[in-house]
Amino acid sequence: MPIEFSFSPDQEAFREAVRAFFDREVRPVVAAMDESETFPTDTVRRMRDEGYFGVPVPEEYGGLGLGKVGYCLLLEELGKVDASHGAIVGAHTSLGTMPLLSYGTEEQKRRWLVPAAKGEKLLAFSLTEPGSGSDSGAIHTVAEKDGDGWTLTGTKIYVTNGREADTVLLMAANDVKKGASGGVTAFLLDKGMPGFTVGRCEKKMGLHGTSTAELILDHVKVGPERVLHEVGKGFHVAMTALDVGRVSLGAASLGGMQAACTESLTFAQNRTQFGLPISEYEVIQFKLADMAMKIHALRLMVYQAAANQDRLGPDPSKWTRLERATKTREAAVVKCLASEWASETIDEALQVHGGLGYIRGTPIERAYRDVRISEIFEGTNEIQRVVIARDLLSRGL
Ligand SMILES: Cc1cc2nc3c(=O)[nH]c(=O)nc-3n(C[C@H](O)[C@H](O)[C@H](O)COP(=O)(O)OP(=O)(O)OC[C@H]3O[C@@H](n4cnc5c(N)ncnc54)[C@H](O)[C@@H]3O)c2cc1C
Repeated sequence: MPIEFSFSPDQEAFREAVRAFFDREVRPVVAAMDESETFPTDTVRRMRDEGYFGVPVPEEYGGLGLGKVGYCLLLEELGKVDASHGAIVGAHTSLGTMPLLSYGTEEQKRRWLVPAAKGEKLLAFSLTEPGSGSDSGAIHTVAEKDGDGWTLTGTKIYVTNGREADTVLLMAANDVKKGASGGVTAFLLDKGMPGFTVGRCEKKMGLHGTSTAELILDHVKVGPERVLHEVGKGFHVAMTALDVGRVSLGAASLGGMQAACTESLTFAQNRTQFGLPISEYEVIQFKLADMAMKIHALRLMVYQAAANQDRLGPDPSKWTRLERATKTREAAVVKCLASEWASETIDEALQVHGGLGYIRGTPIERAYRDVRISEIFEGTNEIQRVVIARDLLSRGL
């Protein structure tokens, strides 16, 4: 497994450009977005115009062609500014767009991937159901054969971008009894298709800029051209998407951790108690040191995993079993550690800020509410440990 890695001048230039953009365009709107719990339509439109919704997609399909490493740079910088914007880009790119690149026919790529990568269409990914969360193969939204197409009926929940998305990559059961192995199919559904509607949108602890929507399918007629990959292989599609999502979640966490650490440093050097800046007290210094250690380790892990995904390329038919297994384990490791380290770092950052960290509207208070979901979505951390342990037991360390 290659572990050497450095950023090219182009990647560094991209990082500088997105950092300046997010500071200028996104940072000023975040507090109001959080307070009003509204989807940030204007900043999302500007980011789409810049190509930031198609960073890892090759240029021939309308993207910026910067691979997973470039994509992680984007999410790291965005993570420093706002988790909601990061989740909107992540749901669209990792979970909605990348499966099209990996599994789409040329026709599907032209129809759905190109507008998604150019930012003309917003995408969402819908796997979860009321009775199927961690047990994500136990889907009950049914896809019944109907001529050469399908009729879809059921209810999906917790869909990030579900209210705003133009297209949803949605998993339904072509055979409920078979479950994950052969019973789940991935469908591309466009908003406005008869019978396909948005239901309730959840009120949440954090990520106030994102919608978390229920999607209702009432006998939605779907043609065969809307099946992504083969019938019965939808679980594969979903898991491949989640491998990308888990690494990019690590990048967004890395950004959030850096922001929390930087704010804590500044605060600790300026807040005086007992006649000294609190940064002079070893207890505070050790909190800052712990943050820096986790940031250092996570940076290496995220970019190594992203570079490995770039080396493998997007075509799953070219991956060996070993490469696929390694990629999945790496993604689970990154996701699990990133989300736990981010929670710990932001919790300690709040502690360094004392009472001020608990006051509504401060960046640390918002980060504390935003970060918690990272241990739950894209597969809970218990499930990441199941994935890692299963792989360990099958092929060792
Ligand atoms: C804000 C938000 C955004 C989301 N976005 C999306 C999205 O865009 N698309 C989508 O499809 N889904 C999305 N989800 C759903 C998310 O992925 C699920 O909530 C998550 O996978 C957990 O499923 P669950 O909530 O049903 O919990 P459950 O599966 O019911 O789990 C409850 C608890 O039991 C534990 N548990 C379950 N099984 C095991 C086991 N075998 N071993 C040990 N522990 C176990 C879990 O780890 C957890 O602690 C989102 C959720 C939220 C809250």
